[in-house]
Amino acid sequence: MQSLSSDRVVLVATGGTIAGTAARPQDHVGYTAGALGADDLVAAVPALQGLPLEAHTLARLDSCDMDHATWHALARCLAGHLARPEVAGVVVTHGTDTLEETAYFLHRTLRATKPVVLTAAMRPATAASPDGPQNLLDAVTLARRGTAAGGEQPQGVLVVLGGQVLAGAEVRKVHGYRVDAFACGDAGPIAVLEDGVLRRFRAWPAPPAVRADVLERDPATWPAVDIVTSHAGARGAVVDALVAAGARGLVIAGTGNGSVHRLVLDAARRAEAQGVRVWRASRCVLGGVVGSPPGALPSAGPLTPAQARVELLLDLLAAGSAASA
Ligand code: ASP
Repeated sequence: MQSLSSDRVVLVATGGTIAGTAARPQDHVGYTAGALGADDLVAAVPALQGLPLEAHTLARLDSCDMDHATWHALARCLAGHLARPEVAGVVVTHGTDTLEETAYFLHRTLRATKPVVLTAAMRPATAASPDGPQNLLDAVTLARRGTAAGGEQPQGVLVVLGGQVLAGAEVRKVHGYRVDAFACGDAGPIAVLEDGVLRRFRAWPAPPAVRADVLERDPATWPAVDIVTSHAGARGAVVDALVAAGARGLVIAGTGNGSVHRLVLDAARRAEAQGVRVWRASRCVLGGVVGSPPGALPSAGPLTPAQARVELLLDLLAAGSAASA
């Protein structure tokens, strides 16, 4: 249990719709993501005023443009703040488009014995009824939860949106427009926040064996890992082109339970013969790949294609470290 003097929250802003501005209040699309900085986000939430809250702007990205260099900088920045004894937890504001990928990357690289809470918004800050301010307030409430009298301390990488607390390792964006755009599939939310009160349904995520060593590696040297979708009329040429362009790993977003079009499979075998690691995941919105029939490509199991891409990247980095040791 932390002491009550560890009551500081550090907010790190990376951009997204939560920091987006549009020309008119009725505009929910056609805005500029990441226009506002961390201080502007805090200023928009009266209930945050006076709290021990530090706000830093790390990036102003539309998260569809998220990149490995920003992940690397973000994870190192958060690791530094989490190590400070006065910090109860950290909050990251992010775009919704790749939030699930960043959450998974942080889940696998940060020792999150304190809460690392990601939040976002589906409507820009200038909307007539923006969802960002409430989401930010909920995220900070969760990050400070251990400092309240009788408040249990959350841990792990968590995502707070629309009053739901979701596990960073499980969360998926499931809707392109609605305010409740995120879900955890079969697992469901860990908790809900209702009027600032936490109602928890299951345990906080146990920290996995993290790959913090990855953060010592220059992201410019990380291997290229790409996702290829299998679909009716698919061609192996996409796989061949990616291998020719230097891909060291590929995740096939397969149909159904991870099945792969025969032409893509042929190309995947050619890639493997050149030393490229190829995994198969499922492009289905819910569920992963169950079972591993003989002769099938290695399965990504329950991971989404985007999560599997991160996991394969970490695997390749580990293999690279082992080879160069
Ligand atoms: N394109 C935006 C982003 O991901 C969408 C959002 O934040 O909702 O940054």
